[in-house]
Order: sequence, then structure tokens, then C-alpha cells
Amino acid sequence: MNSQDNFMKEAFNMAISASILGEVPVGAVIVKGNKVLASSHNLCISSCDPTAHAEMLVIRRAAQLTSEYRLTDCDLYVTLEPCPMCAQAISFARIRRLYFGASDIKGGAVENGARIYNHPSCFHVPEVFGGIMEEECSGLLKTFFQSKRL
Ligand SMILES: [Zn+2]
Repeated sequence: MNSQDNFMKEAFNMAISASILGEVPVGAVIVKGNKVLASSHNLCISSCDPTAHAEMLVIRRAAQLTSEYRLTDCDLYVTLEPCPMCAQAISFARIRRLYFGASDIKGGAVENGARIYNHPSCFHVPEVFGGIMEEECSGLLKTFFQSKRL
């Protein structure tokens, strides 16, 4: 297993924690110097916060931990393609590399939909690597939404 898969596995474990709480299972970690600096998962329902996506929470935590408002030498791993809000926050945070698991045809904004990083108004564009542990990440989401429909 390479280090990308290892870090995505940690994000995946966070996504499982989210699903246990009844939150949409999306998890994220921020890696700095080959170590996990911060990890989180979706908490919109529990915290009554529509902006409490895994990426937003993990960026806030990493910035607080480092006392830096720009995370220039950090990489972010998330189990689902970021939405427009998170894609933009990743840019604001100056994240170096973005690794994501499952593509999100409906809500994603990196390779789908708004394609935030393709806009000339986007000042910082991270290096993007999609499809890491894609099957596991999308499988977890599918199972979650199927169970909600029963
Ligand atoms: Zn988001």
C-alpha cells in the first residue's frame, strides 16, 4: 500500500465515523510532512451547520494547529470530490495537493459541475489527484443512502 492509499484510508475511517452518527459519510485528513495533521468528517446535522463539510472542518483545524492561515505545504485527502464551497476553501487555504476518492457528478466542483479550478478568478489551484480508493469511497456513500431509503 502506498502512502496515498494510507492517508485516504484514514480519511475513509473518518467517513465511517460520520455514517455512525447519521452524517453523510465523507471524511478528510490534512497531511503535512508525511504525517496526518488533522482529520475530520461531515458534521452538518450534529452541529446544525450547513457548512460543516469534512474539508471545511479539517482546514480550520489544521490552520488553528499550525497558527497559519495558509496551508501551503499541506495536502488534503477527502473521500468525495469537493463541492464548490470546499473547492474554493481549499484554494483559499493554498493547499498544495488535493487527493479525492469518489467522483461526485451531481455535487462535485473539481472535475464536474462548476469546475472551480478552471476559472481564471481562482488564484491558487492545487494539484489534483482523483479516484484514490474510489470503489470503497463511493461504495460507502451508496450503502449509506440506500439505508436511508428503506
Ligand atoms: Zn463541501
